[in-house]
Amino acid sequence: MSFRRGKDARRRWRLSAKLLIASSVATVIGFSAICASVMFDMRRGEEELARQTLENLASGIDADISRNIELYDLSLRAVTSNLVMPELNSVKKELLHLILFDHAATAQHFGAIQVFDAGGNLTIDAASLDPRPENRSDEEYFTVHRDRPDVGLFISRPMLHRGAYAIVLSRRVTGEDGRFLGVVVGSIRFSYFHELFGRLNLAPGDTITVLRHDRTIIMRTPSDLDVIGKNLAEQNTWRSENLKDGGSFAGKGPVDATPRLYVRRGGASPLFVVVGKPLENIFNLWRTEAIRIGAIMAALIVFVLSTALFLAREIGRRAAAEERLEEMATTDALTGLRNRRKFDAEIDVEWRRAARQGQPVALLMIDADHFKAYNDTYGHQAGDQVLVGIAICISDAVRRAGECAARFGGEEFAVLLPGTSAIDAFNIAEAIRLKVKQWCEGDITTTVSIGIASMRPGPGQSWADLVEAADKALYAAKANGRNQSVLTSGPKFSLVA
Ligand code: GH3
Ligand code: MG
Ligand code: MG
Repeated sequence: MSFRRGKDARRRWRLSAKLLIASSVATVIGFSAICASVMFDMRRGEEELARQTLENLASGIDADISRNIELYDLSLRAVTSNLVMPELNSVKKELLHLILFDHAATAQHFGAIQVFDAGGNLTIDAASLDPRPENRSDEEYFTVHRDRPDVGLFISRPMLHRGAYAIVLSRRVTGEDGRFLGVVVGSIRFSYFHELFGRLNLAPGDTITVLRHDRTIIMRTPSDLDVIGKNLAEQNTWRSENLKDGGSFAGKGPVDATPRLYVRRGGASPLFVVVGKPLENIFNLWRTEAIRIGAIMAALIVFVLSTALFLAREIGRRAAAEERLEEMATTDALTGLRNRRKFDAEIDVEWRRAARQGQPVALLMIDADHFKAYNDTYGHQAGDQVLVGIAICISDAVRRAGECAARFGGEEFAVLLPGTSAIDAFNIAEAIRLKVKQWCEGDITTTVSIGIASMRPGPGQSWADLVEAADKALYAAKANGRNQSVLTSGPKFSLVA
């Protein structure tokens, strides 16, 4: 029984070692998942914050540009509508200038408004009462209005206009009959954008790009003349599908390879603004924090797992030690066979099993003949060697699972043979007896006597009855002259043949 208890205890130890490792791994996975989720949220928070800041910046820039274009456009519209009034044909140049050009158009970064006739010749110039002859019929801002009456306000690509880099704003002058009468032209110099961007506190790597709706770059900071005027129609980035008004896009832009978070603003005005911030700068703080927390987590994981492994190994060692102790407690030290304690436990188990299954159990009781005399003649140690030899002969014959060979006490051995009939048990007994006889042949002769019993457990019987029957057979073998196997007989026992 105690052997079974030991086995159960070992199983429990192993189970607790496995549970310890499994729970540690689950804890580590759980903590890592929580940590990853928190880090991911933090990253999203950083990105959201940067997006809001960029949105505010883009909105401010867009509002300033839109307001100035609108203001300037109002001046252009006033000129186009006033020009076609027939009363103006007769007024003097000075008066004409006063009527046509208001003060808005003379602001710092705005170029003077000019009027060109249907042939592209300069007719009126806000900057001069006597302008020098000039023909602009080849310019895009002239041809576009001449060929298409519905363009409205046209904003040119960046160009050198009247000695300064500027964008040219133009409107068509249309007669009452719809005839093309010329264009009114003004400009916003780059100095306006430089001043606007200069007022902002930009971090290194931040970019602001102002574009026309056909995705021609009007202005960019950091300023690059190779980029200004470039049309992005061929490129996929910053299309309205992937960068809507008010939307954002994270990745490489059309100008350089630095991945940025780009935010676009300006849907209604003729220009729109895209501001960008390098992703590296956005996630800089987050990355430092992530590395710090990640390192702490990794150290904790290593600590938890190594502690769990250490404890599991200790548990394993303890289970092995218990197993060794158990083994020692059930083994006979001299012969290596099972000891009496173990034999009692085994016969109890097998007897119950046989009772349940209606199977026979056989038992051999083996006793060395005249062993006292042997001891007296050759000494106790030589006697021990003989006992070891007999144990080896027995072990050779007992090999099936469930069979149990034990030292019953002194020079007496017992062999339990579950599911074995009396005849089969007798044959095994004879094999053991002959083996011992053969082994001991020579100067020193030792033989064994064997009593055999095989029973099917019946009602009211116990395994003690089987032992008693085998014992009786052993006495019979001794009485018959020793060195022989005797099968039990008598009315009390049902022998199995
Ligand atoms: P029988 O044929 O009737 O069995 O005669 P026997 O002399 O074998 O029987 P008895 O019971 O008179 O003596 C048993 C002897 O076995 C006594 C003891 O000296 C010896 N013996 C018992 N245990 C050991 C042991 O562990 N080692 C050795 N060397 N001898 C032992
Ligand atoms: Mg004896
Ligand atoms: Mg004896």
